[in-house]
Amino acid sequence: MSAESHEIASLGVIGAGQMGNGIAHVAALAGLPVVLIDVRAEALTQALATIGRNLERQVQKAALTSEDRDAALAHITTAGDNTALSGCDIVIEAATEREETKLAILAGLVPHLKPNAIIASNTSSIPITRLAAVTDRPHKVIGMHFMNPVPVMKLVEVIRGIATDEPTFAAVEALARRMGKTVAVAEDYPAFIVNRVLIPMINEAVFALMEGVGSVIAIDTAMKLGTNQPMGPLELADFIGLDTCLAIMRVLHEGMGDSKYRPCPLLVKYVEAGWLGRKSRRGFYDYTQQPPCPTR
Ligand code: NAD
Repeated sequence: MSAESHEIASLGVIGAGQMGNGIAHVAALAGLPVVLIDVRAEALTQALATIGRNLERQVQKAALTSEDRDAALAHITTAGDNTALSGCDIVIEAATEREETKLAILAGLVPHLKPNAIIASNTSSIPITRLAAVTDRPHKVIGMHFMNPVPVMKLVEVIRGIATDEPTFAAVEALARRMGKTVAVAEDYPAFIVNRVLIPMINEAVFALMEGVGSVIAIDTAMKLGTNQPMGPLELADFIGLDTCLAIMRVLHEGMGDSKYRPCPLLVKYVEAGWLGRKSRRGFYDYTQQPPCPTR
């Protein structure tokens, strides 16, 4: 990659959770060699199994050939630390949504990178400018916010930090297109576009539940059928993870300094109880039952 061209021929992903494995999946299908990193060895094993299962599902639906699946899997390698990222043209950070974690990852990452490598973050809410400031290359740092599940959802929000340069933006926009995604450009304000609008709606649904305006089923049915959404807000909150929803509300509350973004106390209570949604098998619904049963 030259200083001018920014052609992306190889990619690293930090964090092999639900988002990281999805990003590795679509990048590998787009023909890019991918290095997937996690601090937990079991996360890497699980990620490879998930990617294999999801690719196989696409083969069953005739969306892919088995040769495409095998080629994609052959493009993915895994590693336990950042030294494996030294050949990458771009590294997409998709680790846990905690600012200290992301700042430590980025600061520790830069000594291993090529001088011109781009750093993208999949953060849902942390300012890109703040993340960029701990690196040696703020002009090469950008937000690349994929949606969950990555292989299915078409959108990537691309967020420039205050210092992000145009070649970086152009390279990332081209990469998103190559991965089959549509780009929406957002400015670097708390939670960007999708979560700025979506998470306060979810938070308001939890207020409606707390105040007894409706039951879980009534709120989800009303919003599904009344606003033509495929999932109600409480079902969607369980899908995203209630801890993630709360973290984003806190970023909005602090970043905007406006009480209209205060997290609903019932959302806080669910998170304190460890009822985080699907991933802990209990949130606004109980997922140990089939079909999932509302908890209020
Ligand atoms: P997750 O909990 O499924 O995965 C996070 C992974 O990061 C874990 O496997 C963890 O072991 C790993 N990790 C933690 N610290 C690390 C480190 N220092 N180095 C390497 N790996 C490390 O979380 P997720 O849902 O995949 O979210 C990841 C990011 O994507 C977050 O920033 C989140 O806000 C964002 N995001 C999430 C969604 C969603 O719906 N879940 C949607 C869009 C964006």
